[in-house]
Amino acid sequence: MSYARALRCRKCGQEYPVQPLNLCDFCLSPLEVSYDYKAMARVLSQEKIASGPLSMWRYQDLLSVEGEVVDIGTGFTPLVKADNLGRELGLDRLYIKNDCLNPTYSFKDRPVSVAITKAREFGFNTIACASTGNLAASVAAHAAKANMKAYVFVPSNVEPGKLEGIAIYNPVLVTVEGSYDDVNRLCTRLAERYNWGFINVNLRPYYADGSKTLGYEVAEQLGWRAPDCVVAPAGSGLSFTRIWQGLDELSMLGLIEPVNTHMYLAQAAGCSPIVNAFEAGALHVHPVRPNTIATSIAIGNPADGYYALRVARQSGGGACAVTDEELIKGMNLLAQTEGVFAEAVGGVVIAGLKKLTASGVIKRNELTVAFITGAGPKTQEIVSGIAQPFTIQPTIDSFEEVLGKPA
Ligand SMILES: [Zn+2]
Repeated sequence: MSYARALRCRKCGQEYPVQPLNLCDFCLSPLEVSYDYKAMARVLSQEKIASGPLSMWRYQDLLSVEGEVVDIGTGFTPLVKADNLGRELGLDRLYIKNDCLNPTYSFKDRPVSVAITKAREFGFNTIACASTGNLAASVAAHAAKANMKAYVFVPSNVEPGKLEGIAIYNPVLVTVEGSYDDVNRLCTRLAERYNWGFINVNLRPYYADGSKTLGYEVAEQLGWRAPDCVVAPAGSGLSFTRIWQGLDELSMLGLIEPVNTHMYLAQAAGCSPIVNAFEAGALHVHPVRPNTIATSIAIGNPADGYYALRVARQSGGGACAVTDEELIKGMNLLAQTEGVFAEAVGGVVIAGLKKLTASGVIKRNELTVAFITGAGPKTQEIVSGIAQPFTIQPTIDSFEEVLGKPA
């Protein structure tokens, strides 16, 4: 059973029964799942969680699903002590949360696993999503596992490697001539017309909760404590707010000490509406037209930008943007210090972390976790041209002629 008791409007507090619905009828603000934390606290303990499966589903008591879950093996990804990268950046206690190691190579498997389980509970036969690429792959993979039909919509400029990574699961794959924001608007209208479970439209409250497991896992993997600083990417801003919420819930349930984590969000300079608002001291996020190679987070009109901004401010954290050139350097630095080949978004996080550390915002002794949310091999073209191998004949003479005698 779950401890979800209602959907609640984040702005006006109006409550609704648990159902496929994402916006408040009264004020059109996003709905979120509201839980009976008192009842949850009576059954939850560190020991109970630790005895669960080695996946995100060890946190099932904290999520909204009722019965059997649609699970392809997501979560409990490594939290790696990043000593080499830390030395390079001047941080003594740096960790990388490597969420590339999910079944479809991005953190999206977390929210999708929850949302598709709810979709099945609600009786949907067909699921759908608007995506910049990673979400579509995850939705298609989970639909295959759940024997459901999937329609996935992506912008037509999505990278070829991502398209293949979606098509292999055989969903109905639709490319839309437009930006992600156009795709998202179309899907909102399709959700009104068809009785489908749209993962990030009418199922969005459940989808959102899956990202809280990033916060739970990091706290557990640190020995049940929150980090001093978090650096995470922001596209729609949703997962950024849920990492913080995950930490906050654990402290509310008495599983960790009160949370004082400074939350820093990173965006690409070619699409940084939330960073712009943070720097301007503005309350609201003004949409921009995306122009960056970090396509996974190229969302010009971020649905949860307002809330992400609030988390960054209220936690005493911040926001920073990096250029495409800087993010490529970040990808290389991460690979060459810690052996992790992240997608462009990972480069945004590492380049952002570098800036925040160099400017003294994040301090050497602060326990810092950088979230790497998607793997690099799907978008190899970003680093095309870096492979310059030595070509030799299959003889020792040829080897030594070309490379000289190694010391
Ligand atoms: Zn409302």
